[in-house]
Amino acid sequence: MPLKIAVIGAGPAGYPAALAAAKLGADVTVIEKALAGGVCLHSGCIPSKSLLDAAHRFDAVRDISVLCQDSALPAAQEILHALAWSKIQQRQQTVSQKLAAGILALFRQAKIHFMEARASFQDSHTLLLAQKDQSQQLSFDAIIIATGSTAFVPVLFDKIKQHVYDNSTIFQIPQLPKQLVIVGGGAIGCEFATLMSSLGVQVQLVEMQPRLLPNLDENISRLVAQSLQKRGVILHLGQSVRDARTEADKPVLLLDKEVELKADAVLVAIGRQCDLTDLCPENAGLTWTRKGLTGVNPHTLQVKQHIYAAGDVTGLALLAHAGSRQGIVAAHNICGQPQTYHNEWVPNAVYTMPEVASVGFTRSQAQAQGLEVKIQKAFMAANGRALTMAAAEGFVEIVSDKNTGRLLGATLAGPSASEIISAFTVALEAGFTIAQLQQVIFPHPTVSEAIGDALAR
Ligand SMILES: Cc1cc2nc3c(=O)[nH]c(=O)nc-3n(C[C@H](O)[C@H](O)[C@H](O)COP(=O)(O)OP(=O)(O)OC[C@H]3O[C@@H](n4cnc5c(N)ncnc54)[C@H](O)[C@@H]3O)c2cc1C
Repeated sequence: MPLKIAVIGAGPAGYPAALAAAKLGADVTVIEKALAGGVCLHSGCIPSKSLLDAAHRFDAVRDISVLCQDSALPAAQEILHALAWSKIQQRQQTVSQKLAAGILALFRQAKIHFMEARASFQDSHTLLLAQKDQSQQLSFDAIIIATGSTAFVPVLFDKIKQHVYDNSTIFQIPQLPKQLVIVGGGAIGCEFATLMSSLGVQVQLVEMQPRLLPNLDENISRLVAQSLQKRGVILHLGQSVRDARTEADKPVLLLDKEVELKADAVLVAIGRQCDLTDLCPENAGLTWTRKGLTGVNPHTLQVKQHIYAAGDVTGLALLAHAGSRQGIVAAHNICGQPQTYHNEWVPNAVYTMPEVASVGFTRSQAQAQGLEVKIQKAFMAANGRALTMAAAEGFVEIVSDKNTGRLLGATLAGPSASEIISAFTVALEAGFTIAQLQQVIFPHPTVSEAIGDALAR
């Protein structure tokens, strides 16, 4: 008899887990209370990148008008902005729907049962599956929990509820605000500041920490801050929102140091949280906090005996590709084909302009570990391809172990940084040294040649 496995959640963690388990011969049921694809497809990665692509196109129109010195073009662009928002939203929804349909087709091909239902634990093997007009109980040999996370919005924003969007609802905003305040300078806040400013919205961004993207290298934070400021975004760093009120039907935020910000809308992008109340994991002897399930083994993804977890609910890395890998590892471990998950080599990309990306250790993280490091750096200002694209902001910084020459990590900023970072992810996974990386030939002219330039230093 094949192993009977339930996967709860069909986001980027759940659906690869289900496909991997089915490939290994298991009888798999995926239970999803909303749409296949999860946050990633419907209110996260894919919609935000679809909107950013539109923003890139508006920037291109602006660049052409500057190149041609044609003052008529910016005016045409303004009209386009006003008309285009609903079209941009439609395109974004079409992309998400297409990808979601693709997941369901893969499930059908793999003979995976897909149930639209809300799952909750009855005991450690049994789930109650609540559908629109009926409920049923099913028992499984093993269960993968991949229920994801939701936006975190502090209660203080209830006072201006009708003007507040979170990092999921912002995609449905009916029209572009003239003025937007973004609270949170992490990846989502910076990406929305980029795209909204391209679409002509006046953006102010509030970040509690003294710098943007506090989890990334300081040079990256500086570069992204400068690029946002050049786009007209006003930054309020080292400040938090103390209070909120409505005035003349508009939201007003009160920051530390008595600064008041007025806008048409507020986007709260200060993080994500797990709410497992509906899942009733306590019935299976599991405990959880707002950060996710407790006791998840970070290498095997096992929570207890036959119960595994993958994705945001593990609290390991709130990234789609990390969740996908975790799902695959969990499926293999359940099916008796042991695999190990390495959280330290999860690449990270932020789709600002320029894009920024990193993998492994940054310079300061390596130093904090007491490692003696060698830093090799090259700037996009000297890269032929970046110059042809008029996108010469950015750099490549490579961190290696001074004593062994082993690659420890890399940080990139520049065109296609989100793509180029994969070269370093592969090299880290393969355990490359700098000497081995120096053998690699990069095509000319490409942005990736900057890697070769850095290695030559
Ligand atoms: C605006 C935004 C932009 C982002 N951009 C990126 C990016 O560029 N790159 C990146 O890597 N990450 C990005 N992320 C993060 C990424 O979306 C998440 O890390 C990823 O979606 C997590 O995947 P998951 O499968 O764990 O959970 P989810 O995608 O949240 O999927 C979980 C699924 O489980 C279902 N579910 C929950 N509870 C139950 C239940 N009891 N019964 C049945 N079904 C249930 C939910 O309906 C959902 O479909 C972004 C997030 C946001 C909000």
